[in-house]
Amino acid sequence: MPQDNHPLKSDTQKPLGTGGNARRDPPQIKTTPMKPGFYLIATPIGNLRDITFRALDVLSSVDLIICEDTRVTGKLLSAYGFKKKMQVYNDHSNEKQRENLIETVATGQSVAVLSDAGTPLISDPGYKLVRAAIERKLYVTALPGPNAALPALQLSGLPTDQFSFLGFLPPKTSARQAALQKWAETSGTLICYETGPRLLDSLQDMRKVLGNREAAVMRELTKMYEEARRGKLSDLIVHYTEKGQPKGEIVITIGRACVEVMSGESIEKQLKRALETMSVRDAAEMVAQATGKPKKAIYTLALKLGS
Ligand code: SAM
Repeated sequence: MPQDNHPLKSDTQKPLGTGGNARRDPPQIKTTPMKPGFYLIATPIGNLRDITFRALDVLSSVDLIICEDTRVTGKLLSAYGFKKKMQVYNDHSNEKQRENLIETVATGQSVAVLSDAGTPLISDPGYKLVRAAIERKLYVTALPGPNAALPALQLSGLPTDQFSFLGFLPPKTSARQAALQKWAETSGTLICYETGPRLLDSLQDMRKVLGNREAAVMRELTKMYEEARRGKLSDLIVHYTEKGQPKGEIVITIGRACVEVMSGESIEKQLKRALETMSVRDAAEMVAQATGKPKKAIYTLALKLGS
């Protein structure tokens, strides 16, 4: 392993954070013969030091690394001083390429499966390959590590006891609203992956379909400009309308349905509260959805209250 610029060597962070002993007796990366199989390895989502020693052991030991983009994975490998055989496997890979990989393992090779960042198969390729490997009764194991959804949930300030991962919502408004509608009654926190150009439209659809819930936008996790912005969906909409499209990678978390709506508060009270932050149309839609009452009647009442 090269000594200079090595991610495990830093003046500010000791390898294991265990005090003096860590410096005297640091863990060594072990290159050992591997059992044939697929090793699903989580890799950093920004900070290159977010990788486990076991992931490094396996990366240095496997016969082949398959990844979405050899340039991205090549950077990670060279940061740790590894030179390994790499092959592209991504969403465009076909049945034949998958079958070749299955044969590679069936004939005794060990294969690491990586995505560009985070945990493979989580909004990333790998599912079909794992299915095929299981069907062929090949060895498959997962090395846990970085992913964007869980740190976003941790930092959101929203309840963590129950949550649902929605992955990427559809890019078009009508499909996105329909997808969100399916989650409207879910009691836990919702987690969505998003991109800068679609953030504002998504937040607007979320407010429309789910009501003006507590939410958070987490950006550039583990990177230099990591940011967590929390508030009602309406606050976030105002912020990103004023500031414009944010840069970088984004996770949105949304709190459970508004407590006042769930607690059986009178429709009039719910509407009044919603009208404090929403237009008549949005408030009527949210309350109609939350209560299951006819939209037209709620809209008429909202107009009266809002005037
Ligand atoms: N497999 C990855 C995982 O385990 O989280 C997710 C890959 S998915 C193709 C990429 C999306 O993950 C981004 O669009 C963003 O929503 C989220 N993401 C990845 N890295 C992130 C980061 N550093 N900060 C915030 N979100 C991130």
